[in-house]
Amino acid sequence: MDHPNSQPQHRSPSPQDILADAAARFAADKVAISFSGAEDVVLVDMARQLGLDVAVFSLDTGRLHPETYRYLETVREHYGVAIELLSPDPEALQTLVREKGLYSFLRDGHGECCGVRKIMPLRRKLATLDAWITGQRRDQSVTRVDVPHEQVDKAFSTENHPVVKFNPLAGWTSADVWSYIRTNGVPYNPLHDRGFVSIGCEPCTRPVGPHEHERAGRWWWEEATQKECGLHAQNVIRIVNR
Ligand code: SF4
Repeated sequence: MDHPNSQPQHRSPSPQDILADAAARFAADKVAISFSGAEDVVLVDMARQLGLDVAVFSLDTGRLHPETYRYLETVREHYGVAIELLSPDPEALQTLVREKGLYSFLRDGHGECCGVRKIMPLRRKLATLDAWITGQRRDQSVTRVDVPHEQVDKAFSTENHPVVKFNPLAGWTSADVWSYIRTNGVPYNPLHDRGFVSIGCEPCTRPVGPHEHERAGRWWWEEATQKECGLHAQNVIRIVNR
């Protein structure tokens, strides 16, 4: 499915091209799809249809909706794919909860909680990989308008260990994603049928109205330009420096 704005003479690579390229350039144990339990399931479906041997992981923050946990199992069974769940470090989590409670993000912003529940586990995982594949799209947020198909992930690379981030769906719209889901009979998170568009942790996600932007349902008490959980902190850095 080409994006409507793509020019025939400079055809953008399809998401499938990018997935195949990532799988060809990196060993099977050095590249993985990051699956959030939301629309980015299309990456899992595409990898499966292409017969690619690409691992899948997901961040189990401990605060996901029950529907999302069940959906992860649905995807696991539907595709026969192992989904590695990354959990927070127990000690760091206990310290946060003991000192600040379960809803510190409402007072202090989401950075600290996301740091413990998402960023630390992801950093540990990415230290074992050379590349990861995400479902980021440019139309998702003001923080994502410049997302390329491939980039060096400055947030998680170190001097001795560059990490490449592939964003095969960067040029797709939400409509493109849903067209793919419907056409290919891809299982989706039932929360989407209840007005949830961008789905994250239960306390930090709410349904959006028909005229609201999809990221309006995430951390709605914070500024739109700060609505990254740190997984894609590079996007916020770029906006600040603009
Ligand atoms: S999205 Fe909310 S609950 Fe989940 S890790 Fe971030 S601040 Fe914590």
